[in-house]
Amino acid sequence: MYQWRIDLRLRGEDPTLQEVQSWKFHARQSLLRKWRGRLAQPRAGSCTVEAIRPVFENWMDRAHGSLTFRLVQVLSGHGCFGKYLCHIARREPTTECHHCGCCEDTAQHTLQVCPAWANERRELVAAVGHDLSLPAMIKSMLESDRSWREVVSFCEHVMSQKEAAEREREATTLLPIRRRRAGRRRRHYHALLQPP
Ligand SMILES: [Zn+2]
Repeated sequence: MYQWRIDLRLRGEDPTLQEVQSWKFHARQSLLRKWRGRLAQPRAGSCTVEAIRPVFENWMDRAHGSLTFRLVQVLSGHGCFGKYLCHIARREPTTECHHCGCCEDTAQHTLQVCPAWANERRELVAAVGHDLSLPAMIKSMLESDRSWREVVSFCEHVMSQKEAAEREREATTLLPIRRRRAGRRRRHYHALLQPP
């Protein structure tokens, strides 16, 4: 759109409002087509991509629902989860869940299984339904503002507690891998967790 306007200005032309709207519409359609093509062959984040792809247009055109840092952690699986901290951030020696002792803590374990979050989950299920798989949850979030807000609320409550527990482990551990990091290593680790 920017380049198009520059070219018109150089030619001394002034587009009508209708022309601008038409260009915007077609530019967006073209962008979405390219994006959809890229999402058909994801190189990372395939669980998230496969959950959003069937409702891609609804996701892009939704009138409600903003993405918070903690909601994105749960949707992407990149965050304060044992599996992510062990395999990607390399901050934990194992993938275990520190809240129930099971061997693999993931976003889905946190959402659907972990008994530590049973109370928070009850409220989530009341709004979203019993199917808390990522595709079903995202579909429900798009259908109703209440569902979206309940998922955000679950993520805020649960992830803030998981983050606090991680900080506690950092502060009290004897394991070097878990120790609070300074300088370049710490900035690198936080760059993995924080949104840009
Ligand atoms: Zn657990």
